[in-house]
Amino acid sequence: MARYEGPLNNYDRAIDNVTDELDTQAAMRDLHWPEGLTRQLAEAIVSNLDYAFDIRWRPRWVKPGEPHHWSETGEDPDDTLYFTECLACGQIFESGSEASAQTAYQAHRAEEHAG
Ligand SMILES: [Zn+2]
Repeated sequence: MARYEGPLNNYDRAIDNVTDELDTQAAMRDLHWPEGLTRQLAEAIVSNLDYAFDIRWRPRWVKPGEPHHWSETGEDPDDTLYFTECLACGQIFESGSEASAQTAYQAHRAEEHAG
């Protein structure tokens, strides 16, 4: 079963990004916050920002025309999953290998976004 179904929601993605940053900052500062605290803080921060700002996904590190890709590693490094996201339509391709995820994206791009 795919980890991500369809295009990711901007709001949820913002919460995930802020949670990741808070986790990183807490680890760098050797803070031992209770389980789930960074997620709760991220939800509060994003809720507040969303109240006053128009938050949208625009990864500035991805070159125009290129897909967004990332990997996620579970407890076992052999369980690493690779993802390639089509920034034209939001479809996400998931695989146990980076090459396979990119190949699926290239086929999608040729079929859905040619021309
Ligand atoms: Zn697409």
